[in-house]
Amino acid sequence: MNSIVKLDTVSKIYRRGREEVQAIKNVSFEIFEGDQIAICGPSGSGKTTLLNLAGCMDHPTTGTISVEGKEVGQASESVLADIRSRTVGFVFQQFFLIPTLTVLENAALPLIFSNRVVPRDQVVSLLESVGLGHRLDHLPGQLSGGEMQRVAVARALINEPRLVLADEPTGNLDSRSAASVIELFDSLHSRGIAVVIVTHNPELAARCRKVVRIEDGTIAV
Ligand code: ADP
Ligand code: MG
Repeated sequence: MNSIVKLDTVSKIYRRGREEVQAIKNVSFEIFEGDQIAICGPSGSGKTTLLNLAGCMDHPTTGTISVEGKEVGQASESVLADIRSRTVGFVFQQFFLIPTLTVLENAALPLIFSNRVVPRDQVVSLLESVGLGHRLDHLPGQLSGGEMQRVAVARALINEPRLVLADEPTGNLDSRSAASVIELFDSLHSRGIAVVIVTHNPELAARCRKVVRIEDGTIAV
């Protein structure tokens, strides 16, 4: 199987004034094409830190991170930004939609950063594929939570990433909206996109092929 991201004995230490927090301790973790992984664990155990490292949002303090076989752990911000826009899509608990842009504009937003042009029809069919074909000109404030998260998933897919990383994507949703978003993540996997989801939602975790448990900055076995 092809490796997309590989973390090799990675640690992450945050410094807050004089205090040091070792959020991730010597973790090795690899994401392959076709993976569908749930990351579970208590609050503060390092789940978000691990996801951010895998998504090149942050540099490791020690250890190496490779994306598609190329070492990028200490790469410059512009190299990391390029990887983020080409290889990885992100979905967050808080959706992070721009309130003054329509559904269509929000979904197309990453194209500005990746310098790509995608015909409007293609953005529309992406939004149709996440069940939002009837909401194209709505503003985020006119949508339900589940619909907002589906816009965020479409936005994560617009650059056709090989990997989607989601940090508690159903954390702000009622159970019905959560169910529709869970279905959607399942369909990403069947489209051949690797998916890694941090979640407290047992239903979502149970759907994933692999569950990784993080405790106190390490992968529990
Ligand atoms: P989780 O997502 O499992 O709740 P996090 O990865 O957010 O855990 O946090 C792991 C540890 O690192 C926690 O002790 C948290 O307080 C600390 N931490 C996370 N981000 C930062 C930061 N930017 N600066 C300082 N400490 C941080
Ligand atoms: Mg977190």
